[in-house]
Amino acid sequence: MDNKDFILILGPQGSGKTTQGKLLADYLHYRFISTGELLRQAYKENNPLGAKLSEYWATGDLVPNEIIEGILFPILEMDQIPGFVVDGYPRTIEQVESLVSFLDLNSWKINHVFYMHVGDQECINRILERTKTEQRPDESPEAIHHRLQIYHKETEPLLNTYEKMGCLHRINAEKTIDEIQADVRAYFPAETSTT
Ligand code: AMP
Repeated sequence: MDNKDFILILGPQGSGKTTQGKLLADYLHYRFISTGELLRQAYKENNPLGAKLSEYWATGDLVPNEIIEGILFPILEMDQIPGFVVDGYPRTIEQVESLVSFLDLNSWKINHVFYMHVGDQECINRILERTKTEQRPDESPEAIHHRLQIYHKETEPLLNTYEKMGCLHRINAEKTIDEIQADVRAYFPAETSTT
């Protein structure tokens, strides 16, 4: 397939980016990919990669680029689908550079980046709420705090990069799920979806 669209969802843990990314992917008939989810699947498979992942997750640290990109890039390249909504990647400047180089090789580009803006306290409340029903290996109270720190230090500065690239949309994500999704979909012409 010659052309593919790439949409990124960016925001702190607990900002609802996965929920919004999935809804948008359904609307556009694109594939939704969460790098955190891909890693959690690998973790469950109980192989040597899974054992390594538990070391990073004990502290809430990021996983090395080679691991993420070794899983993600083949999917982006091989899957014959018109577009992807990617959640959780890139998280650092090195990852943005790496993604842009990879897309360039295929004459693809980042079409849109949606930044889900939510304050820290609201994020922590939402994650704590989630831990009551869903036990994730990287959501101990210490790991949650550390992950938010990494987010502010490593990932938030990417907003400037995307702003310069001209593809950034800032979304107020302290609204209801439907309201937020409507704000996101407003960037796409109505005829894009058949539903
Ligand atoms: P998430 O569900 O997106 O919050 O990801 C859960 C965990 O997976 C993170 O805390 C990281 O350890 C790891 N992870 C997910 N995506 C990436 C990425 N792009 N770079 C490095 N580590 C990642």
